[in-house]
This record gives sequence, C-alpha cells and structure tokens, in this order.
Amino acid sequence: MRIDLHAHSNASDGTDSPAELVAAALAAGLDVVALTDHDTVAGYGEATAALAGTGLTLVPGAELSCRVGEISMHLLAYLFDPAEPEFAAERDAVRGDRFRRGRAIVERCRELGAPISWEQVERIAGEGSVGRPHIASALVEAGVVATVSDAFTADWLANGGRADVRKHETDPVTAVRLVRAAGGVPVFAHPGAVKRGQTVSDQVIADLAAAGLAALEVDHMDHDEPTRAHLRGLAGELGLLVTGSSDYHGHRKTVRLGEWTTDPAVYEALVAQASGAKPITG
Ligand code: AMP
Ligand code: ZN
Ligand code: FE
Ligand code: FE
Repeated sequence: MRIDLHAHSNASDGTDSPAELVAAALAAGLDVVALTDHDTVAGYGEATAALAGTGLTLVPGAELSCRVGEISMHLLAYLFDPAEPEFAAERDAVRGDRFRRGRAIVERCRELGAPISWEQVERIAGEGSVGRPHIASALVEAGVVATVSDAFTADWLANGGRADVRKHETDPVTAVRLVRAAGGVPVFAHPGAVKRGQTVSDQVIADLAAAGLAALEVDHMDHDEPTRAHLRGLAGELGLLVTGSSDYHGHRKTVRLGEWTTDPAVYEALVAQASGAKPITG
C-alpha cells in the first residue's frame, strides 16, 4: 500500500485540478491519497467524481492555517464532517481573510516595485483559496523572481518578509478541538519546517497532544534527518502517531506525489479515530 496523506489541488494553491490530482495519484502508483487544500473543502466533489472505477482511495481533508503568538503553523484535518457548522465557520473565516490579505500583499509588492496586479493574482488563483504561492506565481510571470520558491525570501513573501501580511489564523488548540468535534482527525503538518520561518516549541506540541492531536507529519521534504529523529522521539513520548507525505502542489513545488508516504498501520489507526467521514474508494 502506498499512502500519501497531504496533497493540494487548485481548490487552493496546487496547480492540478482535483480530477488531475486523482489521475496524478494513479500515475504515481498510490493506493491512497488525501486531498488537503488550505482552509477549504471545495475540491471534494470533483475529486470524488474522478475516482469512479479507478480503485484509488481518497481521504477527504484540509490543511488549516493556525498561529501561536507570531508563529504560523499548519494543521492537517482528515475525515471530518464538512457540514459541521463550527468548524465550517472557522474555515470560512480564514479563507475569507485570505482575500483582504492577498490584496494587501499585492499592494506591498507594487510599492516595492514589482509590476503585478490583483487581477493577475485572481486569474492565477481562479476559484482557489488565494495564498502567497499564487502571488509568487505572479512575481515569476512579471520577471521579478525566477521561481515560486525564490519569492519566499525576506525581500518578498517569506514570513516576516517585506511584502508579507498576516491573515487570520486559528489558535491550534482551538483548531484541534474543532476538528475532533467535527469527527475528524488532526495531524500537525511539517512541525519542524524551519526554512518557512520559526517553528513552535515542543511544549506547544505537548499542549496540542493533550488537546487531542493524533499525529505528527515527520517525513516531509522540509525536515532534515536530525529534525525527523527529534520529532519521532517526541511523538513516542507524547503517544502520537507519525505520518509521511509529499505536500504535493503540482508544478508550484518540486516534490513528487508519493515521494514521502505513510505506513499502512498508521493510516488504519488514523481512519479508526474518524467519525465525521470515511475514505472513499473508486
Ligand atoms: P499562505 O497560506 O498564503 O500563507 O501561503 C503558505 C504556503 O506558501 C505554504 O503552504 C507553502 O505552500 C508555501 N510556502 C511557504 N514557504 C515556502 C517556501 N519557503 N518555499 C516555497 N513555498 C513556500
Ligand atoms: Zn500550499
Ligand atoms: Fe503546510
Ligand atoms: Fe500543504
């Protein structure tokens, strides 16, 4: 079984449509793929429809933008009831503020001399939950930087960078409780991704474990080997499961779907904790 529990479609900042993501998962030889767009479930319908007859299993999920003090972090949520109102309202609040913030970032970029426009970002984002990677693509189009990754520096869009503007992000203890209350399973995404900015302390991870966190995403491209070893040890101490996933974004990132995967026994244990939804097999 090949299981990849973290992938984005163009319902957020990936470049594959949900149907293309399903096709890419099959081409990558995956048995199970989770659709985890930022703060939205908008891709579920198309992804589910594309499954028919493939034998692929889809784990519906999302990746929630959270913040502790000044430190941003991401919480993966799997198999929650998308109609549960409190969690749905929080996703709406985060997604809604992405528009205000996106416009503000574009304004900052223009002040800094980058010839991009909000209309351009809207065209790039389409229906997607708008985020910095879309603005990074606009900066690439405008010739300001060479690659999306090059836009995530202190000069432009990195956390705390010249053109970074904060968005509304949920307190992660609250988020863990919202996910559980919606029958879902919360997993801390790339907890040690230092290249994106400051990461939270082990104490915060312990607090999240006490609030109901299920697992740490340890095998991720943004973690070096010492970071993985540390996180594995911490997960063991706190009674958390350990996952691995690609965090695939289509051609906006270099990582391949299925480049990192989750152990089947861990996958089964996560599914067993869920009561909001079930994996869907085509
Ligand atoms: P946002 O949700 O709008 O704050 O944008 C965050 C997203 O930007 C993350 O989910 C990543 O996909 C991407 N990102 C963050 N840091 C980097 C980086 N250093 N290089 C490339 N992409 C990044
Ligand atoms: Zn993303
Ligand atoms: Fe993330
Ligand atoms: Fe992600």
